[in-house]
Amino acid sequence: MDNIVRDELKITRPTLRPMRKISILGSTGSVGVNTVDLITASPGKFEVAVLTANENAELLAKQARELNASLAVIANEAHLETLRSLLAGTGTEVAAGRQALIDAASIEVDWMMSAIVGAAGLAPTLAAIRTGAIIALANKESLVCGGDLVLSEARKYGATLLPVDSEHNAIFQVLDFDQLDKVARLVLTASGGPFLNHTLDEMRLVTRDQALAHPNWDMGAKISIDSATMMNKGLELIEAARLFPIPEDKIDILVHPQSIIHSMVEYKDGSVLAQMGAPDMRTPISYTLGWPERHEFKANRLDLAKVASLTFLNPDPVKFPALRLAREALIAGNSAPTTLNAANEVAVQAFLFGEIAFLDIAAVVEDTLSRTPIEGLRSVEDIFDCDLRGRKIARNVINAIT
Ligand code: NDP
Repeated sequence: MDNIVRDELKITRPTLRPMRKISILGSTGSVGVNTVDLITASPGKFEVAVLTANENAELLAKQARELNASLAVIANEAHLETLRSLLAGTGTEVAAGRQALIDAASIEVDWMMSAIVGAAGLAPTLAAIRTGAIIALANKESLVCGGDLVLSEARKYGATLLPVDSEHNAIFQVLDFDQLDKVARLVLTASGGPFLNHTLDEMRLVTRDQALAHPNWDMGAKISIDSATMMNKGLELIEAARLFPIPEDKIDILVHPQSIIHSMVEYKDGSVLAQMGAPDMRTPISYTLGWPERHEFKANRLDLAKVASLTFLNPDPVKFPALRLAREALIAGNSAPTTLNAANEVAVQAFLFGEIAFLDIAAVVEDTLSRTPIEGLRSVEDIFDCDLRGRKIARNVINAIT
């Protein structure tokens, strides 16, 4: 597969301007807040064009004031007046709604953080890509559901995609793009989530709060549940296969509960290169923020003596069927990953609302996939239609079991 990261790396290693213009889509989320932290800690280096949220007008307004943002956009229009009054008298303009979000993402900047959660991030991410900016891509769902279209648009408009997910960021740091034929495999590490040591019977009864309590990372609700089902690793498998020119059967998943090794590249000469670090999303975000240089911030230092031991095990396919479903969808290609992602978003939401049990999440995804024909996706409209259809079918599956 063609590879945007590699191609752009070779063709355009930009010289960074002393003052760079940036935007953060999803600034009020977990990745967004970490990004804002890094920007706040680097006064005089960044000019903030756009910050966006869905409904958290209070935090968005606070961030906009602190960073002196030019524009703050709230996707849910019901919160526009609150945002407007919170930012009255400042130099920050306000806007609301889906189209305003897409328009804001189209404003030309040097660097853009794409950190909206779910397929809702696809349209704004595509708009940002069409400006030809450097896109720090946290919103993996847009790559999973948008697939080849996201990559071909990035190529067409000269955008550079830099992976924010700690695993892909790790691979990006240790993959020798000039010797891809010497790569034996990529190894994506996975913490295993909060239920790594639960039995299947125990997993039937887990609560929302237990599923949200990730042992190593403090993240948004959706990715926390995805980590508990290991669908997150499944989405990351698809993301890795899209970002890096390595075939699916050479991308393995390895459970590593300490989340110190963020991923590895094994070469054919037996060398295994890993990127390590304390589990702190600011490290991969910082890497994308500074790229192609290294951006400095006061990271927690990794104290391996304190960590003492690093352990590894293969994922359990019975407890975590989401991994198999994601790999099957990746192999099937076409609309299958889009349907997988849509069904998963609906199922996770239903679990969070207490409609279905934890193990039902993967079951709903599997049932939805089995009821949905696989088709080619030729346009953005095809992708949105497929996403909508996947959501409707998943909803029917849920209605039938509740
Ligand atoms: P959060 O749920 O914490 O934040 C999501 C952000 O998107 C918030 O700013 C939220 O606004 C906004 N948002 C939610 N729904 C919409 C919508 N429909 N339209 C516009 N904006 C919306 O998510 P995370 O920060 O955890 O994750 C963001 C992305 O990054 C995900 O794709 C995730 O998989 C990925 N990622 C996250 C990591 C992490 O450590 N959290 C690690 C690696 C990847 P509001 O606050 O108003 O709801």
